[in-house]
Amino acid sequence: ASLDRITRRDGALGAFLTVQAEEALAAARAVDQKRARGEALGPLAGVPIGIKDALCTRDAPTTAGSRILLRPASKGEATLDPRRGFRPPYDATVVARLRAADAVLVGKTNLDEFAMGSSNENSAFFPARNPWDPSRIPGGSSGGSAVCVAAGLALGALGSDTGGSIRQPAALTGTVGIKPTYGRVSRYGLIAFASSLDQVGPFAADVRSAARLLGVIAGRDPHDATSLGAPVAAYEEACGRDVRGMRIGVPEEYFAEGIAPTVEKSVREALAGLASLGCELRPVRLPHTRYAVATYYVLATAEASSNLARYDGVRFGARAEGAESLGALYAKTRGEGFGREVARRIVLGTYVLSSGYYDAYYLRAQRVRTLIRRDFEEAFREVDVIAAPVSPTVAFPLGERVDDPLAMYLADIYTLPASLAGVPALSVPCAPTPAANGVPSLPVGLQLVGPPLEEARLCALAAAWE
Ligand code: GLN
Repeated sequence: ASLDRITRRDGALGAFLTVQAEEALAAARAVDQKRARGEALGPLAGVPIGIKDALCTRDAPTTAGSRILLRPASKGEATLDPRRGFRPPYDATVVARLRAADAVLVGKTNLDEFAMGSSNENSAFFPARNPWDPSRIPGGSSGGSAVCVAAGLALGALGSDTGGSIRQPAALTGTVGIKPTYGRVSRYGLIAFASSLDQVGPFAADVRSAARLLGVIAGRDPHDATSLGAPVAAYEEACGRDVRGMRIGVPEEYFAEGIAPTVEKSVREALAGLASLGCELRPVRLPHTRYAVATYYVLATAEASSNLARYDGVRFGARAEGAESLGALYAKTRGEGFGREVARRIVLGTYVLSSGYYDAYYLRAQRVRTLIRRDFEEAFREVDVIAAPVSPTVAFPLGERVDDPLAMYLADIYTLPASLAGVPALSVPCAPTPAANGVPSLPVGLQLVGPPLEEARLCALAAAWE
Protein backbone atom coordinates (compact mmCIF):
# COMPACT_ATOMS: atom_id res chain seq x y z
CA ALA A 1 0.00 0.00 0.00
CA SER A 2 2.88 2.34 0.81
CA LEU A 3 4.62 1.68 -2.51
CA ASP A 4 1.32 2.16 -4.31
CA ARG A 5 0.76 5.51 -2.62
CA ILE A 6 4.28 6.61 -3.46
CA THR A 7 3.64 5.75 -7.12
CA ARG A 8 0.41 7.74 -7.16
CA ARG A 9 1.37 10.78 -5.12
CA ASP A 10 5.11 11.29 -4.96
CA GLY A 11 5.52 12.61 -8.49
CA ALA A 12 3.84 15.81 -7.27
CA LEU A 13 5.48 15.88 -3.82
CA GLY A 14 9.11 14.89 -4.33
CA ALA A 15 9.47 13.25 -0.92
CA PHE A 16 11.69 10.41 -2.16
CA LEU A 17 15.00 10.55 -4.00
CA THR A 18 15.04 6.79 -4.53
CA VAL A 19 12.50 4.06 -3.79
CA GLN A 20 13.65 0.50 -3.04
CA ALA A 21 10.46 -1.32 -4.08
CA GLU A 22 11.96 -4.79 -4.56
CA GLU A 23 13.92 -4.72 -1.33
CA ALA A 24 10.87 -3.43 0.53
CA LEU A 25 8.63 -6.18 -0.81
CA ALA A 26 11.25 -8.80 0.06
CA ALA A 27 11.50 -7.41 3.60
CA ALA A 28 7.71 -7.40 3.93
CA ARG A 29 7.53 -11.02 2.75
CA ALA A 30 10.23 -12.01 5.21
CA VAL A 31 8.10 -10.54 8.01
CA ASP A 32 5.06 -12.48 6.76
CA GLN A 33 7.07 -15.69 6.77
CA LYS A 34 8.30 -15.05 10.27
CA ARG A 35 4.71 -14.51 11.35
CA ALA A 36 3.59 -17.69 9.59
CA ARG A 37 6.30 -19.66 11.37
CA GLY A 38 5.08 -18.27 14.67
CA GLU A 39 8.38 -16.48 15.36
CA ALA A 40 8.48 -13.44 17.61
CA LEU A 41 8.15 -10.21 15.63
CA GLY A 42 9.93 -6.94 16.27
CA PRO A 43 8.12 -3.79 17.44
CA LEU A 44 7.98 -2.38 13.88
CA ALA A 45 6.99 -5.59 12.09
CA GLY A 46 5.92 -4.71 8.55
CA VAL A 47 5.84 -0.96 9.17
CA PRO A 48 6.91 1.04 6.09
CA ILE A 49 9.55 3.67 6.92
CA GLY A 50 11.31 6.36 4.87
CA ILE A 51 14.98 7.12 5.59
CA LYS A 52 16.53 10.56 5.17
CA ASP A 53 19.13 10.24 2.44
CA ALA A 54 21.85 11.46 4.80
CA LEU A 55 21.86 8.01 6.44
CA CYS A 56 23.98 5.22 5.01
CA THR A 57 22.13 2.17 3.72
CA ARG A 58 23.92 -0.86 2.34
CA ASP A 59 21.18 -1.76 -0.16
CA ALA A 60 20.37 1.72 -1.47
CA PRO A 61 22.23 4.68 -2.94
CA THR A 62 23.05 7.47 -0.49
CA THR A 63 23.42 11.02 -1.84
CA ALA A 64 23.09 13.51 1.05
CA GLY A 65 21.13 15.50 -1.54
CA SER A 66 24.39 16.39 -3.28
CA ARG A 67 25.93 16.00 -6.71
CA ILE A 68 29.28 15.31 -5.11
CA LEU A 69 28.23 11.81 -4.01
CA LEU A 70 27.06 10.77 -7.50
CA ARG A 71 29.12 8.41 -9.61
CA PRO A 72 29.92 9.99 -12.97
CA ALA A 73 27.25 9.43 -15.64
CA SER A 74 28.19 7.29 -18.60
CA LYS A 75 27.02 8.29 -22.09
CA GLY A 76 23.27 8.63 -22.37
CA GLU A 77 22.67 8.71 -18.59
CA ALA A 78 21.08 11.75 -16.97
CA THR A 79 23.74 13.78 -15.17
CA LEU A 80 21.57 14.32 -12.12
CA ASP A 81 20.12 10.99 -11.00
CA PRO A 82 20.11 10.06 -7.31
CA ARG A 83 20.14 6.38 -8.27
CA ARG A 84 23.83 6.83 -9.07
CA GLY A 85 24.51 7.83 -5.46
CA PHE A 86 27.33 6.51 -3.31
CA ARG A 87 26.83 2.87 -2.25
CA PRO A 88 27.91 2.64 1.39
CA PRO A 89 29.28 -0.77 2.37
CA TYR A 90 27.35 -0.65 5.67
CA ASP A 91 24.11 0.45 7.34
CA ALA A 92 23.94 3.36 9.77
CA THR A 93 23.31 1.99 13.27
CA VAL A 94 19.78 3.48 13.29
CA VAL A 95 19.03 1.76 9.98
CA ALA A 96 20.35 -1.56 11.28
CA ARG A 97 18.17 -1.17 14.37
CA LEU A 98 15.05 -0.53 12.27
CA ARG A 99 15.76 -3.65 10.23
CA ALA A 100 16.30 -5.66 13.42
CA ALA A 101 12.88 -4.43 14.61
CA ASP A 102 11.36 -5.88 11.38
CA ALA A 103 10.59 -2.49 9.80
CA VAL A 104 10.25 -2.27 6.01
CA LEU A 105 12.46 0.45 4.55
CA VAL A 106 10.75 1.83 1.45
CA GLY A 107 13.16 4.49 0.23
CA LYS A 108 15.52 7.37 0.79
CA THR A 109 13.92 10.74 1.38
CA ASN A 110 14.73 14.14 -0.06
CA LEU A 111 16.73 16.73 1.89
CA ASP A 112 18.67 19.93 1.63
CA GLU A 113 22.21 19.21 0.45
CA PHE A 114 24.22 17.87 3.41
CA ALA A 115 21.24 18.84 5.61
CA MET A 116 21.97 22.55 5.14
CA GLY A 117 18.72 24.42 4.77
CA SER A 118 15.27 25.07 6.12
CA SER A 119 13.11 24.56 3.04
CA ASN A 120 14.39 21.53 1.10
CA GLU A 121 15.11 23.85 -1.82
CA ASN A 122 18.86 23.19 -1.46
CA SER A 123 18.41 19.60 -2.66
CA ALA A 124 20.61 19.14 -5.74
CA PHE A 125 17.78 17.16 -7.35
CA PHE A 126 14.36 18.76 -6.82
CA PRO A 127 12.54 20.37 -3.89
CA ALA A 128 10.06 18.43 -1.80
CA ARG A 129 6.61 20.05 -1.59
CA ASN A 130 4.21 20.52 1.27
CA PRO A 131 1.16 18.24 0.91
CA TRP A 132 -1.04 20.92 2.56
CA ASP A 133 -0.23 23.27 -0.34
CA PRO A 134 2.26 22.02 -2.94
CA SER A 135 3.21 25.60 -3.87
CA ARG A 136 4.80 25.84 -0.40
CA ILE A 137 7.94 24.39 1.13
CA PRO A 138 7.67 21.51 3.61
CA GLY A 139 10.55 22.87 5.72
CA GLY A 140 13.98 21.37 5.92
CA SER A 141 16.39 19.94 5.91
CA SER A 142 14.51 16.67 6.55
CA GLY A 143 11.66 17.86 4.29
CA GLY A 144 11.27 14.58 2.40
CA SER A 145 10.89 12.61 5.64
CA ALA A 146 8.21 15.02 6.88
CA VAL A 147 6.29 14.90 3.59
CA CYS A 148 6.57 11.13 3.47
CA VAL A 149 4.69 10.90 6.78
CA ALA A 150 2.32 13.87 6.23
CA ALA A 151 1.13 12.42 2.90
CA GLY A 152 0.87 8.88 4.25
CA LEU A 153 3.54 7.55 1.89
CA ALA A 154 5.00 5.64 4.84
CA LEU A 155 3.99 5.39 8.50
CA GLY A 156 7.24 6.73 9.88
CA ALA A 157 10.51 8.25 8.82
CA LEU A 158 13.94 9.08 10.16
CA GLY A 159 15.43 12.55 9.88
CA SER A 160 18.38 14.37 11.37
CA ASP A 161 18.32 17.60 13.32
CA THR A 162 21.38 19.82 13.64
CA GLY A 163 19.58 23.10 14.26
CA GLY A 164 15.92 22.26 13.70
CA SER A 165 15.82 19.95 10.71
CA ILE A 166 13.37 17.50 12.30
CA ARG A 167 11.26 19.90 14.38
CA GLN A 168 10.75 22.62 11.76
CA PRO A 169 9.58 20.35 8.89
CA ALA A 170 7.42 18.42 11.38
CA ALA A 171 5.80 21.71 12.42
CA LEU A 172 5.25 22.89 8.85
CA THR A 173 3.70 19.59 7.71
CA GLY A 174 1.57 18.80 10.77
CA THR A 175 3.55 15.74 11.84
CA VAL A 176 5.30 14.77 15.08
CA GLY A 177 9.10 15.01 15.09
CA ILE A 178 11.54 14.35 17.92
CA LYS A 179 15.10 15.65 18.27
CA PRO A 180 16.60 13.52 21.04
CA THR A 181 19.22 14.61 23.58
CA TYR A 182 22.63 14.90 21.93
CA GLY A 183 24.15 11.42 22.27
CA ARG A 184 20.87 9.57 22.86
CA VAL A 185 20.86 8.16 19.31
CA SER A 186 23.92 6.90 17.43
CA ARG A 187 25.33 9.06 14.64
CA TYR A 188 27.28 6.15 13.15
CA GLY A 189 26.46 6.15 9.45
CA LEU A 190 24.86 9.60 9.49
CA ILE A 191 26.71 11.74 6.94
CA ALA A 192 28.21 14.41 9.17
CA PHE A 193 27.23 18.06 8.94
CA ALA A 194 28.11 19.56 12.36
CA SER A 195 29.15 16.70 14.59
CA SER A 196 28.63 18.43 17.95
CA LEU A 197 24.99 19.16 17.01
CA ASP A 198 23.79 16.37 14.67
CA GLN A 199 21.16 14.00 16.08
CA VAL A 200 18.98 11.42 14.33
CA GLY A 201 15.30 11.25 15.28
CA PRO A 202 11.87 10.03 14.20
CA PHE A 203 8.84 11.46 12.36
CA ALA A 204 5.37 9.95 12.70
CA ALA A 205 1.74 10.98 12.46
CA ASP A 206 1.18 10.76 16.23
CA VAL A 207 3.26 10.93 19.40
CA ARG A 208 2.90 7.27 20.36
CA SER A 209 4.26 6.11 17.00
CA ALA A 210 7.17 8.56 17.14
CA ALA A 211 7.89 7.34 20.68
CA ARG A 212 8.00 3.73 19.51
CA LEU A 213 10.43 4.61 16.72
CA LEU A 214 12.63 6.48 19.17
CA GLY A 215 12.68 3.47 21.47
CA VAL A 216 13.97 1.33 18.61
CA ILE A 217 16.79 3.64 17.49
CA ALA A 218 17.95 5.01 20.88
CA GLY A 219 20.78 3.68 23.01
CA ARG A 220 24.51 3.28 23.32
CA ASP A 221 26.44 2.31 20.21
CA PRO A 222 30.09 1.26 20.47
CA HIS A 223 30.61 2.77 16.97
CA ASP A 224 29.77 6.28 18.22
CA ALA A 225 31.95 7.53 21.06
CA THR A 226 29.50 10.36 21.81
CA SER A 227 26.54 8.01 22.26
CA LEU A 228 25.27 7.81 25.83
CA GLY A 229 25.13 4.68 27.95
CA ALA A 230 22.11 5.72 30.04
CA PRO A 231 19.28 3.16 29.85
CA VAL A 232 16.66 3.82 27.17
CA ALA A 233 13.40 4.96 28.78
CA ALA A 234 9.99 3.47 27.95
CA TYR A 235 8.89 6.28 25.63
CA GLU A 236 5.76 4.64 24.30
CA GLU A 237 4.53 3.62 27.76
CA ALA A 238 5.13 7.21 28.92
CA CYS A 239 2.45 8.29 26.45
CA GLY A 240 -0.32 7.26 28.84
CA ARG A 241 1.22 8.98 31.85
CA ASP A 242 -0.61 11.54 33.99
CA VAL A 243 0.74 15.04 33.41
CA ARG A 244 -1.23 16.92 36.06
CA GLY A 245 0.95 19.26 38.08
CA MET A 246 3.68 19.42 35.45
CA ARG A 247 5.35 22.84 35.49
CA ILE A 248 5.56 24.32 31.99
CA GLY A 249 7.90 27.22 31.32
CA VAL A 250 6.88 29.78 28.72
CA PRO A 251 9.91 31.79 27.50
CA GLU A 252 8.99 35.34 26.55
CA GLU A 253 11.95 35.44 24.13
CA TYR A 254 10.10 32.99 21.89
CA PHE A 255 7.12 35.27 21.40
CA ALA A 256 9.14 38.30 20.36
CA GLU A 257 8.99 40.29 17.14
CA GLY A 258 9.00 38.26 13.96
CA ILE A 259 6.43 35.68 15.07
CA ALA A 260 3.42 35.58 12.76
CA PRO A 261 0.19 36.49 14.62
CA THR A 262 -1.57 33.33 13.39
CA VAL A 263 1.29 31.17 14.71
CA GLU A 264 1.29 32.96 18.06
CA LYS A 265 -2.48 32.51 18.40
CA SER A 266 -2.27 28.80 17.70
CA VAL A 267 0.61 28.27 20.13
CA ARG A 268 -1.10 30.32 22.88
CA GLU A 269 -4.23 28.19 22.46
CA ALA A 270 -2.07 25.10 22.81
CA LEU A 271 -0.58 26.52 26.03
CA ALA A 272 -4.11 27.08 27.35
CA GLY A 273 -4.77 23.45 26.42
CA LEU A 274 -1.82 22.33 28.54
CA ALA A 275 -3.18 24.38 31.45
CA SER A 276 -6.56 22.70 31.09
CA LEU A 277 -4.80 19.31 31.49
CA GLY A 278 -3.76 20.46 34.96
CA CYS A 279 -0.29 21.72 34.06
CA GLU A 280 0.98 24.89 35.64
CA LEU A 281 2.22 27.59 33.25
CA ARG A 282 5.09 29.80 34.44
CA PRO A 283 7.06 32.49 32.65
CA VAL A 284 10.77 31.67 32.25
CA ARG A 285 13.67 33.65 30.80
CA LEU A 286 16.18 32.36 28.25
CA PRO A 287 18.10 35.62 27.90
CA HIS A 288 20.77 34.44 25.46
CA THR A 289 18.24 33.27 22.86
CA ARG A 290 18.99 36.29 20.69
CA TYR A 291 22.57 35.10 20.13
CA ALA A 292 21.57 31.62 18.98
CA VAL A 293 21.43 32.27 15.23
CA ALA A 294 24.85 33.94 15.16
CA THR A 295 26.41 31.31 17.44
CA TYR A 296 24.98 28.43 15.44
CA TYR A 297 26.09 29.78 12.07
CA VAL A 298 29.66 30.17 13.34
CA LEU A 299 29.91 26.74 14.99
CA ALA A 300 27.92 24.72 12.45
CA THR A 301 29.80 26.19 9.48
CA ALA A 302 33.16 25.65 11.21
CA GLU A 303 32.36 21.99 11.83
CA ALA A 304 30.94 21.60 8.33
CA SER A 305 34.05 23.04 6.68
CA SER A 306 36.07 20.37 8.42
CA ASN A 307 33.62 17.48 7.90
CA LEU A 308 33.18 18.22 4.20
CA ALA A 309 36.91 18.24 3.49
CA ARG A 310 36.66 14.52 2.73
CA TYR A 311 34.77 15.15 -0.54
CA ASP A 312 37.86 15.64 -2.64
CA GLY A 313 37.16 13.72 -5.83
CA VAL A 314 39.37 10.85 -4.71
CA ARG A 315 37.50 8.93 -2.05
CA PHE A 316 33.80 9.14 -2.93
CA GLY A 317 31.46 9.70 -5.83
CA ALA A 318 32.12 12.44 -8.34
CA ARG A 319 35.51 13.27 -9.83
CA ALA A 320 36.00 16.23 -12.18
CA GLU A 321 37.36 15.50 -15.64
CA GLY A 322 40.49 17.03 -17.10
CA ALA A 323 42.22 18.34 -13.98
CA GLU A 324 45.97 18.74 -14.44
CA SER A 325 47.16 18.57 -10.85
CA LEU A 326 45.93 17.20 -7.55
CA GLY A 327 45.04 20.71 -6.35
CA ALA A 328 43.11 21.33 -9.55
CA LEU A 329 41.30 18.00 -9.11
CA TYR A 330 40.14 19.00 -5.63
CA ALA A 331 39.11 22.48 -6.70
CA LYS A 332 37.27 21.39 -9.83
CA THR A 333 35.48 18.46 -8.17
CA ARG A 334 34.37 20.59 -5.25
CA GLY A 335 33.43 23.53 -7.46
CA GLU A 336 31.23 21.33 -9.64
CA GLY A 337 29.97 19.05 -6.88
CA PHE A 338 28.81 21.40 -4.12
CA GLY A 339 25.76 23.65 -4.39
CA ARG A 340 25.84 27.35 -3.52
CA GLU A 341 24.69 27.06 0.09
CA VAL A 342 27.20 24.32 0.90
CA ALA A 343 29.99 26.35 -0.72
CA ARG A 344 28.92 29.43 1.26
CA ARG A 345 29.14 27.50 4.51
CA ILE A 346 32.51 25.94 3.74
CA VAL A 347 33.88 29.42 3.03
CA LEU A 348 32.31 30.89 6.19
CA GLY A 349 33.46 27.98 8.34
CA THR A 350 37.00 28.07 6.99
CA TYR A 351 37.11 31.80 7.68
CA VAL A 352 35.99 31.56 11.32
CA LEU A 353 38.58 28.83 11.93
CA SER A 354 41.45 30.64 10.24
CA SER A 355 44.39 31.81 12.30
CA GLY A 356 43.85 35.37 13.45
CA TYR A 357 40.04 34.99 13.43
CA TYR A 358 39.70 31.81 15.46
CA ASP A 359 39.60 33.61 18.83
CA ALA A 360 37.29 36.35 17.64
CA TYR A 361 34.67 34.05 16.10
CA TYR A 362 34.98 30.35 16.84
CA LEU A 363 36.18 30.57 20.44
CA ARG A 364 33.74 33.33 21.29
CA ALA A 365 30.87 31.34 19.78
CA GLN A 366 31.86 28.36 21.96
CA ARG A 367 31.59 30.61 25.01
CA VAL A 368 28.17 31.91 24.00
CA ARG A 369 27.08 28.32 23.44
CA THR A 370 27.86 27.66 27.10
CA LEU A 371 25.73 30.65 28.12
CA ILE A 372 22.83 29.33 26.05
CA ARG A 373 23.16 25.91 27.68
CA ARG A 374 23.19 27.58 31.11
CA ASP A 375 19.96 29.43 30.29
CA PHE A 376 18.28 26.03 29.96
CA GLU A 377 19.92 24.68 33.12
CA GLU A 378 18.61 27.68 35.07
CA ALA A 379 15.12 27.39 33.58
CA PHE A 380 14.92 23.67 34.34
CA ARG A 381 15.47 24.41 38.02
CA GLU A 382 12.03 26.08 37.97
CA VAL A 383 10.07 24.07 35.40
CA ASP A 384 9.79 20.51 34.05
CA VAL A 385 9.26 21.34 30.37
CA ILE A 386 9.56 24.46 28.22
CA ALA A 387 6.79 25.09 25.69
CA ALA A 388 7.22 27.42 22.73
CA PRO A 389 6.64 27.78 19.01
CA VAL A 390 8.82 25.76 16.58
CA SER A 391 8.86 28.16 13.66
CA PRO A 392 8.00 31.87 13.60
CA THR A 393 5.91 31.43 10.44
CA VAL A 394 3.84 28.83 8.63
CA ALA A 395 5.21 27.12 5.48
CA PHE A 396 6.25 29.80 2.99
CA PRO A 397 5.94 29.68 -0.82
CA LEU A 398 8.72 27.95 -2.77
CA GLY A 399 11.27 30.46 -3.99
CA GLU A 400 10.39 33.13 -1.42
CA ARG A 401 13.70 33.00 0.48
CA VAL A 402 16.11 31.25 -1.90
CA ASP A 403 18.03 34.44 -2.65
CA ASP A 404 18.08 35.65 0.93
CA PRO A 405 20.14 33.34 3.16
CA LEU A 406 19.59 35.51 6.23
CA ALA A 407 15.80 35.30 5.92
CA MET A 408 16.22 31.53 5.52
CA TYR A 409 18.46 31.31 8.62
CA LEU A 410 15.85 33.16 10.70
CA ALA A 411 13.44 30.25 10.14
CA ASP A 412 15.57 28.41 12.75
CA ILE A 413 15.44 31.04 15.45
CA TYR A 414 13.32 28.96 17.87
CA THR A 415 14.94 25.59 17.19
CA LEU A 416 18.64 26.48 17.39
CA PRO A 417 18.89 27.09 21.17
CA ALA A 418 17.88 23.51 22.13
CA SER A 419 20.38 22.18 19.57
CA LEU A 420 23.20 24.30 20.97
CA ALA A 421 22.27 23.19 24.49
CA GLY A 422 22.05 19.53 23.44
CA VAL A 423 18.67 19.09 25.13
CA PRO A 424 15.75 17.04 23.76
CA ALA A 425 12.88 18.77 21.97
CA LEU A 426 9.88 17.71 19.94
CA SER A 427 7.29 19.25 17.68
CA VAL A 428 3.65 18.27 17.99
CA PRO A 429 0.88 19.78 15.84
CA CYS A 430 -1.27 22.64 17.24
CA ALA A 431 -4.48 23.81 15.60
CA PRO A 432 -3.71 24.71 11.97
CA THR A 433 -4.20 28.34 10.93
CA PRO A 434 -7.63 29.14 9.45
CA ALA A 435 -7.82 29.54 5.67
CA ALA A 436 -7.99 33.23 4.73
CA ASN A 437 -7.36 35.49 1.71
CA GLY A 438 -6.64 32.59 -0.63
CA VAL A 439 -4.08 31.09 1.78
CA PRO A 440 -5.15 27.58 2.79
CA SER A 441 -5.19 26.28 6.34
CA LEU A 442 -1.59 25.44 7.29
CA PRO A 443 -0.06 23.49 10.18
CA VAL A 444 1.59 25.02 13.25
CA GLY A 445 3.88 23.14 15.66
CA LEU A 446 4.17 23.36 19.44
CA GLN A 447 7.74 22.80 20.62
CA LEU A 448 8.31 21.01 23.92
CA VAL A 449 11.86 21.14 25.28
CA GLY A 450 13.10 19.09 28.24
CA PRO A 451 16.19 18.56 30.38
CA PRO A 452 18.81 16.08 29.06
CA LEU A 453 17.48 12.53 28.62
CA GLU A 454 13.88 13.48 29.51
CA GLU A 455 12.41 12.46 26.15
CA ALA A 456 9.83 10.31 27.95
CA ARG A 457 8.51 13.37 29.80
CA LEU A 458 8.13 15.24 26.49
CA CYS A 459 6.31 12.26 24.96
CA ALA A 460 3.98 12.05 27.97
CA LEU A 461 3.02 15.70 27.73
CA ALA A 462 2.69 15.75 23.95
CA ALA A 463 0.54 12.61 23.95
CA ALA A 464 -1.71 13.91 26.73
CA TRP A 465 -2.32 17.09 24.80
CA GLU A 466 -2.36 15.77 21.18
N1 GLN B 1 18.20 25.01 8.92
C1 GLN B 1 19.39 24.82 9.70
C2 GLN B 1 20.60 24.90 8.79
O1 GLN B 1 20.41 25.22 7.67
C3 GLN B 1 19.34 23.53 10.41
C4 GLN B 1 19.65 22.39 9.54
C5 GLN B 1 19.64 21.09 10.26
O2 GLN B 1 19.14 20.98 11.37
N2 GLN B 1 20.25 20.12 9.62
O3 GLN B 1 21.69 24.66 9.19
